[in-house]
Amino acid sequence: MPKIEAGGSVDARVGRDCPRCPRLVAFRQAWRGKQPTWHNAPVPSFGSVAAQLLIVGLAPGLQGANRTGRPFTGDYAGDLLYATLKDYGFSAGDYGARPDDGLTLVDARITNAVRCVPPENKPVGDEIKQCRDFLKATIAEMPRLAAIVLLGRIAHDGTVAALGRRLAAVPFGHGTQHVVDGLTLFDSYHCSRYNTNTGVLTPQMFREVFAAVRRHLDARGAS
Ligand code: URA
Repeated sequence: MPKIEAGGSVDARVGRDCPRCPRLVAFRQAWRGKQPTWHNAPVPSFGSVAAQLLIVGLAPGLQGANRTGRPFTGDYAGDLLYATLKDYGFSAGDYGARPDDGLTLVDARITNAVRCVPPENKPVGDEIKQCRDFLKATIAEMPRLAAIVLLGRIAHDGTVAALGRRLAAVPFGHGTQHVVDGLTLFDSYHCSRYNTNTGVLTPQMFREVFAAVRRHLDARGAS
């Protein structure tokens, strides 16, 4: 089992062939055979380690991030996420649903609770646990980190566990904020197609989360 060591970027250490989750390795191998030009590997985080904001998603979509190699890129969920980031000054350039679209994140970084695409978009408990080491190391490699947006319950639960807290003390709730070790956690329902189509999450509800993040980081900057 590869161990996370100190130093270096987490993405480089995860590489393309992480062996931790047999089911995800088999799925990845099958898609490498079917679609050899796709990324079909753990999807690295997007954005600078110097960012103050980290956004944690669930896992790459099969034909989105797993195909393009950039979180939320080519995924339905990415349309709302990237539009919202732009509106609150967390990106520059235009999102074009491809990794060479020239989009850059501004003081923000995006990662996933699970880095490999899971069958049916559903990682199992052990896969979430295996990838938690990488999430923990991703958080640890961001020296200016001040805020984390948690997209959905799996991202919330995985991040709270990565921060060493009990879920009972830090419960998930859309629009809820928690402070853990000086980091402010902002919960949101995941911006998935299902949640937006069913009205569980409206674009306005999502915007309000990022508006709160913007206010929080601006207030810190001003103090
Ligand atoms: N794409 C990602 O990279 N993460 C998600 O959570 C959903 C789509």
